[in-house]
Amino acid sequence: MALYGAIEAGGTKFLCAVGTGPGDLRAVVRIPTTTPEETLGRVVAFFQGFRSELRAIGVGAFGPLDLNPNSPTFGTIPTTPKPGWSGVNLLKPLQEAFRVPIRLETDVNAAALGEGRWGAAQGLATFVYLTVGTGIGGGAIVHGRLLHGALHPEMGHIRIPHDRERDPFPGVCPFHGDCLEGLASGPALEARWGQSPESLPEDHPGWELEAEYLALGLIDILCVLVPERIILGGGVMQNRSLFPRIRWWVKELLKGYLPAPVLRGDLEDYIVPPALGDQAGLLGALALAMDEAPGG
Ligand code: ZN
Repeated sequence: MALYGAIEAGGTKFLCAVGTGPGDLRAVVRIPTTTPEETLGRVVAFFQGFRSELRAIGVGAFGPLDLNPNSPTFGTIPTTPKPGWSGVNLLKPLQEAFRVPIRLETDVNAAALGEGRWGAAQGLATFVYLTVGTGIGGGAIVHGRLLHGALHPEMGHIRIPHDRERDPFPGVCPFHGDCLEGLASGPALEARWGQSPESLPEDHPGWELEAEYLALGLIDILCVLVPERIILGGGVMQNRSLFPRIRWWVKELLKGYLPAPVLRGDLEDYIVPPALGDQAGLLGALALAMDEAPGG
């Protein structure tokens, strides 16, 4: 029987699975991210066990990534703070071991695809998946296709208004300081308040500021793409009280300007959590494999 391979490649772990859909995700293994040789060696060994049934492999990986098939460094992570991983080619060990189509995407693009296929954006042609965790990253599906330019989108690094008198925190982005990721990622919350997002009480004023920053980022994305829905995932969004606050701020900042019917009301169906939870990335990688398989 035909099986599809899925890899969610992260800075702390690689999740690997085979299956045919959300109801049939088998043999999920968690491989700690150590050296590239060891990690990718274990990934290849996992899929060897399904060799005869494997039709294609999808990979959703941490980045940035070179996703341009015409580039000599296609499939590599050009630069990453993760020691030993800069310049590593994620595709090569898989391509050498398996003669099946392999498709690589960023982790957020894969998660967006998963949510579109089986989750909170089913049936929508244009939507955005934004993750707010150790970093902030976004994937957009536009007219049914993942948005790519000269590089994949880097929505976490958009610049937003920052009132330094009200919030003197300089931000944590090593490149920009106070970009959206610099001001509103999990590490930014922790550095600003001296407490991890998980331990910050729900009534802490930091959450209101967080909602405002995220809403400022969202309205930029909204005005560029006018997506049909925005899905917010990642560790920071585990605090569900952020959702009504973000919706309120988005309404407040838009001032009724965009007359789209989806933007009427309280935005409860517009700014939503992922339906696939923490499986969005892995299922998205599975969707990549299914699309890439011959006849898929
Ligand atoms: Zn930045």
